[in-house]
Amino acid sequence: MSNPIRKMYIDGSWQPAISGQCREIINPFNSQVIAEVAEGDRRDAALALTAARRAFDGGSWSTISGAGRGDLLRKLAGRIEDEKETLAEIESLDTGKTIMESRWDMEDIISIFRYYADLAEQNGDEVINSPVPQSESRVVREPVGVCGQISPWNYPLLQATWKLAPALAAGCTVVIKPSEITPLSTIRLTELAAEIDFPPGVINTVLGPGVSVGAELAESPLADLVSFTGGIETGKSIMRAASANVKKIALELGGKNPNIIFADSDLDTALEYALNGIFFHAGQICSAGTRLLLEESIHDSFVDRLATRMARIQLGNGLKEGTQMGPLISSEHRAKVERYVAGGVEEGATLVLGGHRPENAELQKGFFFLPTLFTNCRDNMMIVQEEVFGPVVTVERFKGEDEAVRLANNTIYGLAGGLWTSDPERQKRVAAKLRFGTVWINDFNVYFAQAPWGGYKQSGFGRELGRHGLEEYTEVKHVFHNHNPEPFCWFGL
Ligand code: NAD
Repeated sequence: MSNPIRKMYIDGSWQPAISGQCREIINPFNSQVIAEVAEGDRRDAALALTAARRAFDGGSWSTISGAGRGDLLRKLAGRIEDEKETLAEIESLDTGKTIMESRWDMEDIISIFRYYADLAEQNGDEVINSPVPQSESRVVREPVGVCGQISPWNYPLLQATWKLAPALAAGCTVVIKPSEITPLSTIRLTELAAEIDFPPGVINTVLGPGVSVGAELAESPLADLVSFTGGIETGKSIMRAASANVKKIALELGGKNPNIIFADSDLDTALEYALNGIFFHAGQICSAGTRLLLEESIHDSFVDRLATRMARIQLGNGLKEGTQMGPLISSEHRAKVERYVAGGVEEGATLVLGGHRPENAELQKGFFFLPTLFTNCRDNMMIVQEEVFGPVVTVERFKGEDEAVRLANNTIYGLAGGLWTSDPERQKRVAAKLRFGTVWINDFNVYFAQAPWGGYKQSGFGRELGRHGLEEYTEVKHVFHNHNPEPFCWFGL
């Protein structure tokens, strides 16, 4: 390896792991080692939290003006914009996703930093109508403090940005830990931030496994909040760990998202969005629409058209223009998807297409899996209930609106769902009955900086993006000022 080992960024300087350990980062397209990074443990995380604590308590960030913080966030957005093509390439190399998707991610990332730069400048104080004469009552929002932030491998830089931008805008200091298998874009973002004038200790980036580095961020009394995006079981362990010092928690967990298609919808458009909803990033998206609910009368024709299109999806190197779907993230993750597919067959779902690895010689070194279609699925099947996180779609049929809503809501998750119909009254009725944090009407998988994102039920709690995303990183303080206090004589007279 000629490239230097990428280090952690703690208290304004680049540092190797205290243990001296490193980890190889693998390109999921061909299993080649693309980088070596420091592999931290609890001690590195504790060091970073101490630096963040010092920076927060010293006020070097929280007490500068919102305009000052906004300025730096806007500068960072500018640096990302200058480097967006390189960053997109890093992301595709590390995750296997297509370069087109990585480019979209970079545009989103830039707009999110700019959005929160604007919010940082706005004074969110609220004046309350006090019932006490000659008094003044104000509600102010203050930064929550030191934030541990733990992000997943599917959207490494985008998910890091959903956390970093609002936390920094609010005046918090942060220790961010990217997924240990996809840290490269977060490291590069940290390098860009280090070139700007963020005070030392405001942004700290630590690298390493969840069970040590991540667990320290969740457990340590030095952190006031932990924000986590990842799987449901990890989320539960973070909740337990965070209870040690009654830390605030924001959890963005998985999803098993229904996409309901009524017979009266624009079926050509619905088909395109169904495909996009399932197969972007090979289905490794928390909001992937992998539960397709089709109205009885259109079921067979829609399935035929879906299967025809799925069979033509071009698998390949995400960095090559023309590739439509890349590999899964790792051989372990592919094995998990394969177990789900075998389980679906055992449960009696009909495997219409895919269900195995591709045979093309040029894809054998990567972690590829073919687009897979199951029909005759029932809502009590594991393949329908559990998050597969791969290019696997299950189709259920329904008769009428009530059944569609019942099936869609029959899940422990509540992240997002879509519905397709041209009937305006039905659009309102069904959207109101769906128990998901986001409902798309005649669209799928759309999100943007200005609107909140997060889950109902076991998809987590707390919100990212939008004004709600900023508020997650604030404490609410009531400041009451009595301008004319009169003696109130009661005790010991
Ligand atoms: P994961 O839970 O395995 O890991 C996520 C992060 O948590 C990683 O950085 C990992 O190192 C860390 N981690 C693991 N164990 C930990 C522990 N015990 N303590 C602290 N940190 C720990 O998830 P993943 O496989 O990286 O990501 C896929 C999951 O993320 C899917 O379930 C997906 O739905 C979810 N996700 C949700 C959203 C959302 O917005 N709701 C967005 C993207 C991904």
